[in-house]
Amino acid sequence: MAQRTWNRGLGGITIEDRGNAAGERDLPMIGFELVNGSVGDPCVYIQVPFTRANAMLDCGLNVSVPAGKLLRVADVFVSHAHIDHMIGFDWLVRANLTHDKVLNVYGPAPLAEQVQSRLRAYTWNLDTRAWVTIVCHEIGDDAITTTRLPCENRFVPGEPPRVRPLAEDVIPHPHLRVRFARLEHRITSVAYSLQAPPRMNVDAAALAEAGLAPGPWLRELKSRAALSLRMSPGGRCPEAGLPDDDRIDADGRTLPTKQLIRDLLSVKEGFKLVYVTDTLYTPETRESIVDLARNADVFLCEGMFLTRDADTARSVYHLTAQQAGQLAAQADVGELVLFHFSGRYADDYGALVREARREFPRVRACGID
Ligand SMILES: [Zn+2]
Ligand SMILES: [Zn+2]
Repeated sequence: MAQRTWNRGLGGITIEDRGNAAGERDLPMIGFELVNGSVGDPCVYIQVPFTRANAMLDCGLNVSVPAGKLLRVADVFVSHAHIDHMIGFDWLVRANLTHDKVLNVYGPAPLAEQVQSRLRAYTWNLDTRAWVTIVCHEIGDDAITTTRLPCENRFVPGEPPRVRPLAEDVIPHPHLRVRFARLEHRITSVAYSLQAPPRMNVDAAALAEAGLAPGPWLRELKSRAALSLRMSPGGRCPEAGLPDDDRIDADGRTLPTKQLIRDLLSVKEGFKLVYVTDTLYTPETRESIVDLARNADVFLCEGMFLTRDADTARSVYHLTAQQAGQLAAQADVGELVLFHFSGRYADDYGALVREARREFPRVRACGID
């Protein structure tokens, strides 16, 4: 069983899988750092397992993040474009400007127009080479619209946007399973779920019972199961994406792949981190959040107000810390990390944590003590 180690970083918390005493790792974890703690602008630096292409959740002030880390950001998932969630975007572009790479930005409409407006505010008359290309993926009601903004074209779209219908609320990503939910902030605010790939375990007893010896064929079985899992509805059933007549050479015998997967493999869900911020608490948003956050290992959720200020929370379309605790309990998450605290509680931010803890025991906040 892998250990989870929480570290206080520079104004944030990072989570790392240090493995067990023998150094064995259980499941790849998604590292994260609340760049401005639980009090400052929302900005979460995400370490994606198995790659150096990292991510960010929201783009609040980020000048404290070393340039080398900003350079490793490949994807930015924006909840909405209020200034406290986007003010760091220009700095991110600045850090990546002269690098031949793609910087993907996801968020609710009208994201592409908002990003282009920011870039139009600068003068690009001198050296505009084939440096960074910003690709906006705008989440609409039933489609994602992708607009490419190449530096060499002065961040003006060189081609018409590509519109892709949305079958389910999933964003394709090479290393993570990314889901999202639309929330209510008087505009749409988008919540995100980032999940590492599942791990396939072989049941040694079932293998012996089937009279099969382990060998390289098990790797092939696992890889077919993993591919099928990615294609299955909801990403839960490892044999669903395979044709019935698919067969595999197992220890010298040709056997049906689906049956072998059912008999020999168990799927352990990958580490899941869910990010929810800036939303009104309604029956609909509650249902969407609980569905998105169910069994998350880490649930990052705003807890801006105390219950005594619930009327204010409602009027500005935000959650209370108590509601964040209730959501964590209903979604049965591992840990709740509270953030986006209102400055009005500067005398005692701990009160927000205490209110959430009355609903759910495992609550953390960062940079308030
Ligand atoms: Zn907002
Ligand atoms: Zn906000």
